[in-house]
Amino acid sequence: MPRLVMKFGGTSVATVERIRNVAQHVKREVEAGYDVAVVVSAMAGKTNELVGFVREASSRYDPREYDTVVASGEQVTSGLLAIALKDIGFRARSWQGWQIPILTSEAHGSARIAEIDGSAILKSFAEEHEVAVVSGFQGLHKETGRITTLGRGGSDTSAVALAAALQAERCDIYTDVDGVYTTDPRIVPKARRLDRVSYEEMLEMASLGAKVLQVRSVELAMLHRVPTYVRSSFDDPADPRQGTLICDEDSIMEQQIVTGIAYSKDEAQITLRNVADKPGVAASIFVPLADANINVDMIIQVVSDDSVTTDITFTVPAADYERACGVLEEHRAKIGYRALQGATDVVKVSAIGVGMRSHAGVAARAFKALAEKGINIRAITTSEIKFSVLIESAYTELAVRTLHSLYGLDRV
Ligand code: ADP
Ligand code: ASP
Ligand code: MG
Repeated sequence: MPRLVMKFGGTSVATVERIRNVAQHVKREVEAGYDVAVVVSAMAGKTNELVGFVREASSRYDPREYDTVVASGEQVTSGLLAIALKDIGFRARSWQGWQIPILTSEAHGSARIAEIDGSAILKSFAEEHEVAVVSGFQGLHKETGRITTLGRGGSDTSAVALAAALQAERCDIYTDVDGVYTTDPRIVPKARRLDRVSYEEMLEMASLGAKVLQVRSVELAMLHRVPTYVRSSFDDPADPRQGTLICDEDSIMEQQIVTGIAYSKDEAQITLRNVADKPGVAASIFVPLADANINVDMIIQVVSDDSVTTDITFTVPAADYERACGVLEEHRAKIGYRALQGATDVVKVSAIGVGMRSHAGVAARAFKALAEKGINIRAITTSEIKFSVLIESAYTELAVRTLHSLYGLDRV
């Protein structure tokens, strides 16, 4: 029988009633002749609550115990969905990450899947005709025998990885929107749903802040060529719409220059004033940050007018801001800057589209349009299929809407 992986996010399993609704979606696919593995997230808000408990217990918690606690939300929903499926007459059982097993690296809190042994699930399909209800987000580090988690939003990655391991025909990601939009539909009502989006563009959109899919899930879908749909669990379970297909660029007929706009508030800006303008200075700043595992994204070095000192501005993830400042303080004597200025009220707004490869001047139009709205750009980065600008966070919605209209993405 063909196999299918269906994944349901937090809002889709937020209550027992919503879990019963999920069972109806699963029923449809089982009756259509699929062997189904369902991956579930924790109930909406649950993981945040669990993270809160851990932090309340200690600010210096053991990351292994963090994973033990936060992985528990998915155990509840997998059990409840198996119960709901049995209640409507289907054979089903729950699987925790360690039971399959889904083996991961030891990076607690952001572990990477190393291997999934699909044989036990395949055996239960063949011999027991059971729906496999799998807890998303969690895995096992084999050598230590400890439970791990895959980072926030990680159930998407569990689902795509499982689809690859089971050689499923496709992976359906059910969420609270009916597909991938040209930008977050919650902040731009005129956003349009895309029928198809390429793996490359989806990867950039996810990396640049569109949290509809976890970045790693898109990487895996691309690597293993898993046809992945994003669709809504709020559609009628008897007759749902297809959603958005993430697929090869070649299977998309109509290409826009810009496909989508994303934004990320998870940024912080650091400026070092009056750094010596001489060889080796950039290394003295960025090597210690890299050694501390802090990712530096945008970098701007101003050409100095005195050739003696210069200013360097760069961004780091907001979560690493305090740590980055600490590292720079520690290396202050070696770097030799006069002052460190930081800002956390910044946002990175990005435009993504494979059409940028063959069109010049795409970003320049954005700079003009943002200037006309009085939005000051603090930093810019560009690459083959995207560009990003760093601006004050108060202007997020205005900037996203401006770019969305500028590139003809508004729904008419
Ligand atoms: P789930 O709990 O199902 O995993 P998430 O909250 O992680 O759901 O992801 C779905 C949300 O992603 C949507 O509610 C939407 O606000 C947001 N989102 C951001 N950018 C986009 C986009 N380009 N297209 C669709 N949704 C987006
Ligand atoms: N429950 C986890 C989270 O909230 C994983 C997920 O929902 O994908 O991050
Ligand atoms: Mg999610």
